[in-house]
Amino acid sequence: MLKGKIAIVTGSTSGIGLGIARELARLRANLVLNGFGDAGEIEAVRSGIEREHGVSVVYNGADMSKEEAVRGLIATTIERFGRLDILVNNAGIQFTAPVEEFPPAKWNAIIDINLSAAFHGIAAAVPQMKKQRWGRIVNIASAHGLVASTHKAAYVAAKHGLVGLTKVVGLETAGSGVTCNAVCPGWVLTPLVEKQINDIASQKGISHEEAAKDLLAEKQPSSDFVSPAQLGGTVAFLCSAAADQITGTTISVDGGWTAQ
Ligand code: NAD
Repeated sequence: MLKGKIAIVTGSTSGIGLGIARELARLRANLVLNGFGDAGEIEAVRSGIEREHGVSVVYNGADMSKEEAVRGLIATTIERFGRLDILVNNAGIQFTAPVEEFPPAKWNAIIDINLSAAFHGIAAAVPQMKKQRWGRIVNIASAHGLVASTHKAAYVAAKHGLVGLTKVVGLETAGSGVTCNAVCPGWVLTPLVEKQINDIASQKGISHEEAAKDLLAEKQPSSDFVSPAQLGGTVAFLCSAAADQITGTTISVDGGWTAQ
């Protein structure tokens, strides 16, 4: 379905981004992987996807907290492949604290990586996508882009901002062959959430398994985690012809979280 397309997935060395990258490669898109991690492990993932799916996969370690690096990632990709078809803004971090104790440096880092990086990436990608008269921008927001929780001031602000940005870009690109949408996952069992489960386990003196159950019970009526592969499927749908008229909106994949 995506043969010959070029896709960038930010933050794709782990978790949801890696699940999305694998699904796009399965559909034969060529990939630019991005994110931090052990160089050997990243190379093993890169070459593994290339071998398994017969596509071209390159790694670019651009730091999504830096404007020039984000814009450079887009420019380098267009230079190398001569096009850019799919941009998945997925890189993200989390930090939790009550608002009056929230460290300003953590606020800035979360806004930079979870929100401003998407702005810089989109701004740099849209001219090329419009020129091609085809492009898909998918922003990985969150249930926290639609509703709030305590102790997540920066994350909730960034994700609500990302949903707003999605709407503006959807309007500005409407009718050009380019679409921009946000996916809003509920809990997904990745390193970002493992940390929160570990915090609950040590605060309450309970096992990891019990803490995971508590975390789900509080928000996610399905009582089950969303998987990175399911989110890959959602992004693939947004890249399909069936989604040509879906733009400027959000798709929740949250086990019922935001229906409450
Ligand atoms: P993760 O920690 O497993 O992966 C985050 C990825 O982003 C990693 O590849 C990491 O290297 C990369 N990254 C972090 N800082 C970066 C930077 N400065 N520059 C480049 N890359 C950077 O987390 P995840 O759970 O897979 O989260 C991915 C996205 O999904 C995030 O935007 C997160 O907010 C969102 N999300 C996660 C959940 C969940 O339950 N896990 C729910 C909703 C939304």
